[in-house]
Amino acid sequence: MQSTKEKYGENLQVETLAIHGGEFVDPETQASSPNLVMSSTFVPRELTGFSALDEDESAGYIYTRSGNPTVRQLEEKLCALEGSEDARCFASGIAASHALIMGRLSSGDHAIFPENNYAGTAEFLRDSLPRFGIEVSFADTTSLEAVSAAIRPETKMLWLETPCNPTLQLADIRQLASCAHGKGVRDIVVDSTFATPIGTHPIELGADFVVHSLTKYIGGHGDAMGGVVLGRKADLDALNLEATVHFGGVMSPFNAWLIMRGAATLPIRMRAHQEQAMAVAKWLEKNPAIKRVYYPGLPSHPQHDLACQQMNNFSGMIAFQTHEDGEKIASRMIEKLEHVHFAVSLGHHRSLIYWIGTEDILKSTFRHTGQAEERFHELMGKGVFRLSVGLEHAEDICSDLDRCF
Ligand SMILES: *Cc1c(COP(=O)(O)O)cnc(C)c1O
Repeated sequence: MQSTKEKYGENLQVETLAIHGGEFVDPETQASSPNLVMSSTFVPRELTGFSALDEDESAGYIYTRSGNPTVRQLEEKLCALEGSEDARCFASGIAASHALIMGRLSSGDHAIFPENNYAGTAEFLRDSLPRFGIEVSFADTTSLEAVSAAIRPETKMLWLETPCNPTLQLADIRQLASCAHGKGVRDIVVDSTFATPIGTHPIELGADFVVHSLTKYIGGHGDAMGGVVLGRKADLDALNLEATVHFGGVMSPFNAWLIMRGAATLPIRMRAHQEQAMAVAKWLEKNPAIKRVYYPGLPSHPQHDLACQQMNNFSGMIAFQTHEDGEKIASRMIEKLEHVHFAVSLGHHRSLIYWIGTEDILKSTFRHTGQAEERFHELMGKGVFRLSVGLEHAEDICSDLDRCF
């Protein structure tokens, strides 16, 4: 595959890449927008082997589990946005994370993950990885000292999530990647779902792999699940056979087609998400019902300086605590909200809010003890509302929330 720059020219801006990356006029029909190829199998031009082990790139498409033209178009668009050599799409964000973790780590390896991160990933790490002989440590990834101290000779992977879900803590990718690579850690992975390729380019900062849940901002409309792993071509080729053909969590071409349409407007949507989130975050900070607001774009965020350095866009995710018991407010939200949906997920054009109670999440997901538990209480209090600020007018979002406080 040609690099983005070879293919699209040195000087194209991200708005142009988001629209034209991976797309072309169909030579058969002259169709301007991408074809949806749902075919699960392809008729070969000459005799090839039966096993995926026999496939080589010159053979073209054979079977959609090992490659599909519509999914490939989305992969190329995502490479153009992220500035990576190559990409593989999967059925969900978790399928992408699973493929990367199980495809790169073996029994006897050690990996470091953030002490707070996306619940689905955290539960997979705590419940499943130890069964396969992969040892996992959890570190405070806001601290260089903590991450450095967790590295061992057999550490193969450092996983970062920034901003992280749901605490909105940031990790300094450049500093942590440089420290970990220097100590012999092979893979630095960044789950960049909250930041999107518009906010942060982890590969430029030293990461080896980037993961996104495409279900969130990149798809952007709450109607298609997907995930992607981006990185060097050689690494993704090595991952490909196992992670796609053998694990099989591949993306449906229909989802690729929907997500491609969403991705085309990502740069302009992210500008609007940021503008709206800033207005809502400032309004929350002034509201007497609100105790504490976390938004990387606010000077009150504990790592605002790092946010300004590492993020070109602060995204649309806010966490906040209330003075009144959050559970009571959450029950009122289910009853009273008119535009904002009380629902999980994030990054859609619709605003979404959810209550994350500290007791609950410490029991089910994070299971922190000692200092990690103290840090979590200090940060989250009795719980936070996670708000994904959508593209409705900020005034309407605020007045909808206000009727519940
Ligand atoms: C949602 C999410 C995921 C998982 O993605 P799915 O598409 O729901 O499987 C992973 N990481 C982060 C940060 C997320 O927000």
